[in-house]
Order: sequence, then C-alpha cells, then structure tokens
Amino acid sequence: MRTLSHFIDGQHVEGTSGRTADVYNPSTGQVQAQLPLASREEVERAITVAAEAQKQWAATNPQRRTRVLLKFVDLVNEHMDELAELLSREHGKTFPDAKGDIQRGVEVVEFCAAAPHLLKGEFSDSVGTGIDVHSLRQPLGVVAGITPFNFPAMIPLWKSGPALACGNAFILKPSERDPSVPLRLAELYQEAGVPDGVFQVVNGDKEAVDALLDDPRIKAVGFVGSTPIAQSIYEHAARTGKRAQCFGGAKNHMVILPDADLDMAADALIGAGYGSAGERCMAISVAVPVGEETADALVAKLRERIAQLTVGESMDPNADFGPVVAASAKERIEGYIEAGVQEGAELLEDGRGITVDGHPDGFWVGPTLFDRVTREMSIYREEIFGPVLCVVRAQDYEEALTLVNEHEFGNGTAIFTRDGDAARDFSSRVEAGMVGINVPIPVPIAYYTFGGWKASGFGDLNQHGADAFRFYTKTKTVTSRWPSGIREGAEFIMPEGS
Ligand code: NAD
Repeated sequence: MRTLSHFIDGQHVEGTSGRTADVYNPSTGQVQAQLPLASREEVERAITVAAEAQKQWAATNPQRRTRVLLKFVDLVNEHMDELAELLSREHGKTFPDAKGDIQRGVEVVEFCAAAPHLLKGEFSDSVGTGIDVHSLRQPLGVVAGITPFNFPAMIPLWKSGPALACGNAFILKPSERDPSVPLRLAELYQEAGVPDGVFQVVNGDKEAVDALLDDPRIKAVGFVGSTPIAQSIYEHAARTGKRAQCFGGAKNHMVILPDADLDMAADALIGAGYGSAGERCMAISVAVPVGEETADALVAKLRERIAQLTVGESMDPNADFGPVVAASAKERIEGYIEAGVQEGAELLEDGRGITVDGHPDGFWVGPTLFDRVTREMSIYREEIFGPVLCVVRAQDYEEALTLVNEHEFGNGTAIFTRDGDAARDFSSRVEAGMVGINVPIPVPIAYYTFGGWKASGFGDLNQHGADAFRFYTKTKTVTSRWPSGIREGAEFIMPEGS
C-alpha cells in the first residue's frame, strides 16, 4: 500500500488534515494507495509559496521559460512507458490508450514553444500627434486547475503548459481517483527546471477546491469535470472575482446518413462508444442513423463487432477496453441500463454481469447497446459515462440535426456521409463546439482550441491553442506621448538635405 502526498514548494509533503481517500486499481477492485485530502490551511500554504515563486518565473524571459517546457516534453517522452503504466493501473484504461492520454497532453506543452510569439502585444504608431499605443500581455499570477479522473495526464498538461509558458505559477488539484501521474508530472517539471513553487499539486476534495476558489490570490481557475460541478465552480469563481473556464459533461451524437460508408461508421462507433469504457467527454454515446434501412444495417454491423470485443485487465494487450473507474461508477452505469429497460428501450447487448478471468472484483461493465431509444428517456437525456451506446432512429436529416441541437449538451458531434453538401450544412448549423466529418472523436489538435457549447462549457475562452494564452494573461494597453523639444536641446548638427 502506497501513501501518496502533496507536491508543495518542490517537495513531496505529507498530508496533515487527517483525512484520506482510497485510490483503487479498478482492474482488481483493490485499494492500492492512500491519498491525503488537503485542508484549507495546506492549500493556503501552497498559494503563499506560489505567489512568491511566481515573481521570479514571470521575470524570466518567455524564450527561457519555453526551453524549460521543451526539456519537460523530452522527459515525459523518456518516461512514457512508466507514466502510461501508472496511469493505466489507476484509471483502468488500456496501456496504449494511456499513452494517448499523455501524448495528447504533451503536444499542448510542445505548442507552448510558440509562447514568445503568442505573448507579443500590438503597436499603433501616431494615433494622435506624437502619440503611440501599445499593448502587452502579462501573466495573471497564481492560477489553479481542477481536473477530472478520465484524463489524468492530458488535462493537467493542457492547463499547466500554457499557464506556465505565460509566466504564471500553477496549482493543480487533480482527481482524487488517479493522482499518481499528476504527482509524477510535478517531479518531471522540477527536473526540467521549473523553479520550486511554480508547479504544485494539492490533493483533495471540495474542501481544497473551496479554499482555492475563496482565496483572492488565485486569479484564474480552469476546471474540467461534470456539469453540475462545472457550473457551481464557475459561479463561485465569478463571486470571488476570478476568471474561469469550466468544461462539463457531454452526450455526443453521431449522425449516420444513408449514403455513409456503414462499415467505416460502425468501426468508428465501436471505438468512440466503447473505447476507454466510454469514459471520455468526446465519446459518442448516441448514434442517430437516418432512415429505417440505415438503422437496421448499422445495428447489425454494431452487433457483429460487439461480439468480437474483449474487456480485460488494463495492462492486458488483448483488451479493447478495461474496467470503469470505480465501484460507484459501475453501479451508476448499471442503474442507467436498468432504467433504459424500464423506460422501454430495446436492450440488444447487455454489459451487466460480465466476468474477467482472474479478476473477480474488478469494476467491469461490458459493451451495452440500446436500440429505439427516444428523447424522453433518461438514458438519452443524461450523461451515463460508461460503455453504453444508444441508437435513436431519425426519419430524415432535419430530424437528426434537431435532435443534436435540442440536446442540453453540446460538446462534440459527428456526421458520417459521402455528401459534402450535407456535411457542410451540418457543420454550419449544428450547435456543438467540435464537429467531426467522418471522424468520430473530433478532439482538435494542440494549435486549435478545445471547448464545448451549451451545458458542456461555461466561460468564453477554450482550452489550448491561442485561446489559452489569452486566458492565462491579462492585457495592458499603454498610450504614450513624449514631450518634444529634448531633441532640439541635445541635437548634433545633421547634414542638410541628406
Ligand atoms: P467530477 O465533476 O466528479 O470531478 C472533477 C473534479 O472536481 C475533481 O478534481 C473532483 O475532485 C472535483 N470535485 C468533485 N466534486 C466536487 C465538489 N462538490 N466541489 C468541488 N470540487 C469537486 O468529474 P469526474 O467524474 O472526475 O470526471 C468525469 C466528468 O468530466 C464527465 O462528466 C465528463 O464528461 C467530464 N469531462 C469533460 C471534459 C470536457 O472537456 N468537457 C473533459 C473530460 C471530462
């Protein structure tokens, strides 16, 4: 049994609150570590350390800061396998998928090499007689990130990379379910040359989060997690005068038109619906085939593929996906499956009660498929966050588009078709932040931005890309006029007419 810590002022620090949480291996169902949950005083100490350390970091020129971050990228790549195994054993996603989690995070830190360019201000010459205007982007100071269990490397990296590149100190409050990778990232940041106190990890729950939100020295909060918490953190941050970007849950639809390549669509749905046990905010959880013929053919193809899927221990190379993260998650997902049956959906594949050899206590839920789901059902309206795919049959394209647009969530969506005109119309009219055309999980690359609409995102600037540099800096605009006459006084004789 490991005892985990906080990472404050460049050191692992034992918890002093007396409160702890169990960290599980979801494949075995066994507790593998104890995590301290920070008290308000522990959080306040980290903020005090950060506020002091940030001054020197902000005074380091941006190019030097990015050199440190690029060294960090190298270190993460060197330690990729070790990090991925640690991640896989706490989260439950497979080893290759854990590598993807780290890779998509590190790409954002790599993008931060552009910080000297992205931090440049603007300049206008002679806006009035002898008057110039220029703007500069300055760091905010100490900022915090509160992150979910499902991407324990990627999301902390999406937030900390740009925040540090801009000259802020960053305090991470990771998920209490899988904190080991964030703690290891803190060590690697330090090894790369990030000064002590500039990147810190405080582990905890609501008490730690409230301490961060209440403290006036925290200038910005980046949150990712479920919608009710995202909204409450957004409101709390607004009350205490912080800028906030808070990303929430999702119910991503994939529309399949009759002219789509149905094998391609079915393969995409299997990966996007069941990969990582459906515990991705960009998972597809609703398939909307257009027309009965398309629906029948698609469902048949999905069932063939589901029969081939292997659920297994997260480090098993044959596993397509692993366990869900916690016993409570398994219970919640199974509750939704039961609700779907009660509400009248057709349960074609039931993932309840599956077993995995040698791991009787793992948190297993197998691939589940519902057909003839309707918009009133709870399995359609709410985020299940498990390996459960719902098929909602639409009669035509407009009905499919309306379904997506009227859903409470608007994170990502996709359309599968061979018709460029339909795809173009869809991407223009659909109410969601990220759109895939024959691409099931349209997570934008590092130099674009990531963010959902409607109940999937609160705040106006997205994660990563250029938006992150706007979020983590404040703009100062300087209007300057210099008194004339000095030149005459100090002037040497200039040759005339040259
Ligand atoms: P969660 O909301 O339970 O927890 C997220 C973070 O908030 C954790 O650090 C947790 O400790 C903290 N937290 C939990 N309850 C809190 C409270 N009452 N007060 C203050 N802080 C609290 O989410 P999760 O289960 O870790 O992650 C899954 C959710 O995250 C899903 O809803 C998923 O869709 C969403 N998600 C969204 C995105 C996105 O970009 N939109 C990305 C990944 C995950």
